[in-house]
Amino acid sequence: MTLKTSCHNCGINIEHDDWMIGQEAQCPDCGQTILLAPKKETQSPPPKELPELKTKQVSAAQMHLELIRDNSCYKQLRQVIDVVYIIGFVAAIIGLLIGVLNGRATILNGDGGGWIDVLLSIVSAIGAIIFLVAGRQAALLAVDIADTLLHEHSQSKP
Ligand SMILES: [Zn+2]
Repeated sequence: MTLKTSCHNCGINIEHDDWMIGQEAQCPDCGQTILLAPKKETQSPPPKELPELKTKQVSAAQMHLELIRDNSCYKQLRQVIDVVYIIGFVAAIIGLLIGVLNGRATILNGDGGGWIDVLLSIVSAIGAIIFLVAGRQAALLAVDIADTLLHEHSQSKP
């Protein structure tokens, strides 16, 4: 027969066979050693509490990362990444406008080849913006990883 014991530390339900009652086991979620002794159904926490707990853990991890970011020695690097991103974005838009206007002028002059200029400008701008967004995300992620590693390293030292 399968029984459930809830972890006294994190509240997760652990399923085990009835012959394991009285034995100690490690919680698969938090690693806490718990005594396998199922509570009555009425005493076990309602399952709706579990997702709430998970979201709390996520927001705690998010807050932890925000804290690391706030005390980061890479703060300026993050600003440089954002400035480069904005400059690149503005340059892409200006390039798009110049290309489209130039193509339009060529078309108005009676040269049908002007549409190639317009098309080329649009494709180039889209490519540049995709590259900028992806590059910014990758750079910020790399700084986050560096920050987290540095933070863990400094905490492991006495
Ligand atoms: Zn637990």
